[in-house]
Parts: sequence; structure tokens; C-alpha cells
Amino acid sequence: MPHTSPSPQDSDPSTPGNLSSTTIALLQELVRNGCENDLTPDSGQEIRNADTLEKFFAGAPVTIQRVEPHPGRVTLIVTVEGTDPQAEPLTLLGHTDVVPADASAWSVDPFGAEISDGQIWGRGTVDMMSLTAAMAVVTREIAISGRPRGTLIFAGVADEEARGGLGAAWLATHRPELLDWRNCISEFGGSHLRAADGSDAVVVAVGEKGAAQRRLVVHTEPGHGSTPWHRTSAVQKIAEVALRIAKMQLPAAHDDLWRHFVTSFHFDQSTEKALITGAEDDVYEIFGPLASYAHAVSHLTVAETVVNAGKAINVIPGTASLELDIRTLPGQTDDDVDHALRTALGDLAEEVEIQHLISEEATISPTDTPLYRAIEETIGEFFPDSAVIPVIGSGGSDLRFARRLGGLGYGFSLYHRDSDWATMLGRWHATDEHIALDDVDLTVTALHRLVTRFVNPR
Ligand SMILES: [Zn+2]
Repeated sequence: MPHTSPSPQDSDPSTPGNLSSTTIALLQELVRNGCENDLTPDSGQEIRNADTLEKFFAGAPVTIQRVEPHPGRVTLIVTVEGTDPQAEPLTLLGHTDVVPADASAWSVDPFGAEISDGQIWGRGTVDMMSLTAAMAVVTREIAISGRPRGTLIFAGVADEEARGGLGAAWLATHRPELLDWRNCISEFGGSHLRAADGSDAVVVAVGEKGAAQRRLVVHTEPGHGSTPWHRTSAVQKIAEVALRIAKMQLPAAHDDLWRHFVTSFHFDQSTEKALITGAEDDVYEIFGPLASYAHAVSHLTVAETVVNAGKAINVIPGTASLELDIRTLPGQTDDDVDHALRTALGDLAEEVEIQHLISEEATISPTDTPLYRAIEETIGEFFPDSAVIPVIGSGGSDLRFARRLGGLGYGFSLYHRDSDWATMLGRWHATDEHIALDDVDLTVTALHRLVTRFVNPR
């Protein structure tokens, strides 16, 4: 059944119920615009979502800027000027692109934004059009209810899924003055963790892992495939390299963030100790569906993803390469990565050329800040018995550009208690992506409280 809802421009957002219905209507438009980013410069075409958002702000007392570094790749920046230049500003970074969806694998139209069973279905409903819509709705609501003390900015940002080259990375490099980067909010927050004793916690992303992609190259003497006697093919050599890398010891985290994450589960003492010291590999199974996440955020991780060797079946190749998707923890440097690789390669290290591909250090924001405290207080209003747990993301978000420019970046949303983190992580980029209408409602209500608390402090 097609869902009918008011156009987002028509509704009066001055009551909480209307904030929610306005957000759902705007979310539906953003999903239906289908701004699929397949990592090529001509994809995405976020101009459609920028147009929808600009129309949504029509008549509101805001200033709007459009940035278009490549045809169709539009980022929209909406500013509500504060009355007090000394007051802390707040910037809401909502990306407007989505990853592609293979409609043949979905049980619903991925760009239909249909509503059924209390859920809204479609590509981007979780990542992250629901939050982008909530950000726009809250920004307009604050703007029309009078100027805030601190300046509030909403940015509908293109190209997040391709690491921001035509979006946040471009802005941070070429036009950093268009945004205030000091206090930023974006995705990855608000899901629940259930501890071993049944108590509840809510996660807030305060950082994300870095990327340290490598290509390992080996060389041997090439030759004719008909005379292999006493020859080592580059294929054989890269296979040995791949085996050694697969067995490498991955440096584990020993920082407070990991310790805090582990202790929030209230495991028994010996499990807690094994997790904190990172001594045994099997211990992560205790996290159940969160095991691979827990392992990823407590280790340098290395995934062997691309191998290249040989072209003709009758030629023994003289060169082969192996590409590694490596993710670093806060504090781990390029040198740490190369050292760990050389150690794993052992006596082969001298014969392996290590090439650096994309290299970006992990970023992290401290938690002793006014914005983090405002987030804690806001979550506490809705879940007074739940702990708030700062975590790092295993993947990336636009917040790393804010952190690199000296600003703070935190993930925020707020979901109901049964929307646990493993479930929500499993919906990112997934087939039949969907979000509960109740979770959209709670997110926009909580975001409105957070923004009000921060830009209009008592
Ligand atoms: Zn996202």
C-alpha cells in the first residue's frame, strides 16, 4: 500500500508529533530521490536531495549556500545565525548520498520508501537519510522559533560513501570557511548494548578507525611455462606472503575507550581480563553478533582483498602483488603498520616491496567537552537508567574532517531499547534496509532537545 503523508513543506513542525511526521515525509522524499553513489564522480547526483532540502527551507529565516565541485554533486549549507558571537556553534553534518541497491535482491522497492509494519523501508533509511531528515527538520524548527544564541548550521553533504572527495573532504580542503567545524554531529550513535546482567547502555561514536591500505609486491625471474625446473614463480612467492600475513599478530588496543566498552558489558572477571589484555582470539565470541565489531575496534585489522599475478598461462610471471585493506586504531601510525607487516613476513621481508595506497590516521574526540556532556544529558532524559558508552566506528564518517581541522565530532541518533547495536550495524548497506518509525520519532525528538540545549544554553 502506498503511504500518503503530508508534504514536508506543509506541516506545522511546532509540536513533537509534527516534528516526527514532517521528518518521515522528508525522509521519504530523500529516499525516493535515490542518490546512489557507486564511487564514480558522475554518480550520486545529490543535486536532487539538495533541491528537496532547499525547498524544505523555503521561507525560513536562514541563509543557504550551494557548493558543486562536480556537476550534480551538490552540498547544501543552511545557516541559522546566532545572536551571541561568544556562544558555542553547532554543525549538523548529514550526508545525502546512499550506496547502490540491487533491486532484484530486495523484497520491496529500494527507492519506494514504503511504510509497513511500523517500519519505513528503503536504501538510506538507516544510512543516513533518517538522521539527515531529522537534522533538517530540527534546524528549520529552531530557525522559525527565533534566533538561537549559538549559530546552528545544517549541511546536506554529498559523496560521503566515496570518502568525501566531492563532499566533506572537498569542503575541508578547498572551502573550510563555509562551515563551522568546532562542534559537529553526524551518524553512528543511539543504539543499545545489553550487558550480561541485563542492564542497558547507549553508544555514542567519538572516533573512527584509520585506513592504511598497502600493496605488497614480489619479484622473481620470469620464464617459459614449459621449463619450470628450479624456478620460483611470483605466484608461489605471493602465496607464501599471503599465508604469513594471514597469521600475523594484530596489535591490540589497551586504551581507556576499549576498557570502558568491555566493562560496560558486566562480564565475569576472567572474561573481562582476557578481553582487556587481548590475549586470546576466541574470547570475542562472548559478544555474540557484535563479535567481529568488538574485535575490529580493539585491533589493527588486516584483510587480504586483491591479488594480481600473471597474464598468459604459458609464462611464469616475474611479478605478483597482494592488496591489503588495513584499518588502524587511534595512535597507530604508518610506521607501526609497516613494522607489523615486516615482522609477519620474517625472512621474506627483504624481498617484499611495501607500497602505500590510501593512508588516513584514525581520529578521536575527547569526552570531557560541553557537546559530549550535552549528548549524555539528552540521552539521560530518555533513558535515565542507561549508561552512555563512547565507542569508535570500524568504518568512516564525515566527522573525521572536523576532527582533523581541530573540531569535535560525535555520532548521534536515539533508538528504542530493542534496536540494539548489532541489529542496527547489520542494516548498514544491507538488502531490505529499514528503520522503525518509532526510532525516527525518537531521533528527531532527542535531536531537537540536544540542539536546543546546546545552542540555547540556560
Ligand atoms: Zn552513512
